Amino acid sequence: MNLRNNGIFVRQLKQKLRKKIGPSLQWAAYSTGMMQFLARIKHIKGAIVLMYHSVADESQTRWIDPHNHVPAGIFKEQMEYLSLHRQVIELAELIKILRNGFTPENGTAVITFDDGYLDNLTVAAPILENLGLVATLFLPTGYIDRGETQWVDQAYTAFKFRTRSKLSWKGNQTVSFDLRYPAHGAEAYKNVCLSLMHNNGAKRRNLIDELYVQLSPTDPPQRLTMDWDDVKMLLTKYNCFKIGGHSQEHTDMTRLTEDEMRDELEGCARRIEDVLGIRPVHFSFPYGRTNTQLRKIAAEHGYDCAFGGMGFNPIIHSGTDPYDMPRVEAPALMGRFELAVSTSNTGIWRRLGR
Ligand SMILES: [Zn+2]
Repeated sequence: MNLRNNGIFVRQLKQKLRKKIGPSLQWAAYSTGMMQFLARIKHIKGAIVLMYHSVADESQTRWIDPHNHVPAGIFKEQMEYLSLHRQVIELAELIKILRNGFTPENGTAVITFDDGYLDNLTVAAPILENLGLVATLFLPTGYIDRGETQWVDQAYTAFKFRTRSKLSWKGNQTVSFDLRYPAHGAEAYKNVCLSLMHNNGAKRRNLIDELYVQLSPTDPPQRLTMDWDDVKMLLTKYNCFKIGGHSQEHTDMTRLTEDEMRDELEGCARRIEDVLGIRPVHFSFPYGRTNTQLRKIAAEHGYDCAFGGMGFNPIIHSGTDPYDMPRVEAPALMGRFELAVSTSNTGIWRRLGR
């Protein structure tokens, strides 16, 4: 074994060990109060912003990529926990605190949703309204225009309900997969998702059509995304949602030219303003992918904050760049929720939990 292989072996061993004992170590540190004690002496303070996608009930879960889904019942429990144990504020209020140079109090939480799932209207809104909580919903306007199910759920469903086992996929090069083998299935899904993420418009549509022709799934999804009538109903029937932007075509914006970046940011804001009469000032970058240029352009187009990735230090404080705000992905389990929303759970502790 040469030195390089040695290095890879040690890294893999470390990763395996961390995955095996990390979550138990993390929980032990939290339940004994050690994590909170260390956070106190290090003066770690600030807010957490939670990110949700779908919160559908059982009638729709079979069509939704589990990475994007917190079951309706668990979502309700999580909101009840927040309303009892946290200070939930609106995103605009958080930005105001940061702009005034302050750090939010520990226990401050903000709720956000991406992508405009229809269940945000049918499931989330009644729960939030009932508890008096307010959330921000980031909309990809092209998908709302078409009421189109997100590409990831279209791809997930094609694989899940496929009637064929051969896939020939043209990414950087054409690769053939035999989906009867789980390893091939996982690799094929990854390949398909990457090409769908890196394309948009007609090209992405053609790729999805091609996937459906090749896999011929039996149970294509119902419409899972809101259209504008649904969004209007959400805003007239309930007071618990504010609207932000999430691009037009839900593409990886770091791969665009400057003109295309501006078009995604401005087109999204203008479309929301045209239909709803409110110009959005909050933005979330699709897939959390962002860079210095995008952050600068977002500011130039009138947004006053933007969300990027989900690092291991998601605590928002006075030094946080409002255009590079981190979020915490809401876990699909209630057991880990308390940890996910703890301000003490940062750095190495959060890394151990993954
Ligand atoms: Zn998204």
